Amino acid sequence: MLDINKVRADFPILSRTVNGKPLVYFDNGATSQKPQFVIDAISKYYQEINANIHRGVHTLSQLATDAYEISRGKLQNHINAKYAHEVIFTSGTTHGINAVANGFASLLKTGDEVLVSALEHHSNIVPWQMLCEKTGATLKVIPMDENGELIMAEYDKLLSDKTKIVTVNHISNALGTVNPIKYMIDKAHEFGAAILIDGAQAVPHLKPDVQALDCDFYVFSGHKMCGPTGVGILYGKEDWLNKLPPYQGGGEMIKEVTFEKTTYADLPHKFEAGTPDVAGGIVLGTAVDYMNSIGFDNIQQQELELLEYATKRLLEIEGLKIYGTAKEKTSVVSFNIEGIHPYDIGTIVDKLGIAVRTGHHCAQPIMNYFNIPGTIRASFSFYNTKEEIDVMVEAVKKAQLMLA
Ligand SMILES: *Cc1c(COP(=O)(O)O)cnc(C)c1O
Repeated sequence: MLDINKVRADFPILSRTVNGKPLVYFDNGATSQKPQFVIDAISKYYQEINANIHRGVHTLSQLATDAYEISRGKLQNHINAKYAHEVIFTSGTTHGINAVANGFASLLKTGDEVLVSALEHHSNIVPWQMLCEKTGATLKVIPMDENGELIMAEYDKLLSDKTKIVTVNHISNALGTVNPIKYMIDKAHEFGAAILIDGAQAVPHLKPDVQALDCDFYVFSGHKMCGPTGVGILYGKEDWLNKLPPYQGGGEMIKEVTFEKTTYADLPHKFEAGTPDVAGGIVLGTAVDYMNSIGFDNIQQQELELLEYATKRLLEIEGLKIYGTAKEKTSVVSFNIEGIHPYDIGTIVDKLGIAVRTGHHCAQPIMNYFNIPGTIRASFSFYNTKEEIDVMVEAVKKAQLMLA
């Protein structure tokens, strides 16, 4: 069991006020808050070992390089990758997806197909549209139903020998749906297609095992899992990473450069052009240490309780509708109140110190499916409490009265 007061004390921002009220932070789907342990690790890096990595023989450069590579090893362990060189540091989920989509440009031709799901974040739609424009491949969409679940019978029908890559999120940021990715991975492989999993919303809640999943690519950001902004991970199977051309050219990713020809560095450096976010890379490992010290079993138990409680309390409000009622869900509640624009509710509850997200959540196709402009999204983390949910429910009721 979590000692919730002790956990909350790890996060200095949770004790501040907003608009004169205690902060209630329910925008964890956009970014998580950071524990002091992580904040301290950032300044410790700059105070004690700041240097560029993989370049100098001097002591600091070696210390920084060692710390960076140790962190890569922590991430490798965390997701159970077979090799450390399958773990590429990126600037985040968006970067990771673009690196893979760009790599596939050299492998696709007219008539090939790319499958994306109806539940995707724009980051996992637009790079594939750009890829299709460039190559003449066709983008096909795996549809969802009114619960916000992908329809597997339709997925099965869409798959064919033309399918070259499938891309789907592990967990939807807009609705919280946990997708049946193991089934989807195995099905894609039956047709010889590669599959990328967007794990941005999964890694704050669970520990993915990329070997058990057998996915070809798994991408995520550090900032949604208690880590700093500006850093993320692209996991790729060794064979795929060797097959794909590098995404960016520059320093660090080369073996030899002449004006006639350049040869590329081995993995992982082939995909790590230029000076990376060294502090971010190192501290991402610190964030993983922190989350493991809390324990993912504890995290899931706390978040599931919050989800059930929030769902029950919110449904007491007349005219309130929840979008996303999948059987497998994480701690996200997306809702609207009849006759009121989500933005207006968001603005009023902000005045009361409550941070929720309003809008389309970078997933306009989902909003179009439900024929709504957006929703109010409360996304909970393990450091949130039922008392905070009560505060939100009262605030939403108040907003409803004011706007009716
Ligand atoms: C947040 C998010 C992204 C984009 O992550 P960035 O950190 O902005 O690159 C992509 N997919 C999902 C499901 C997300 O939640």
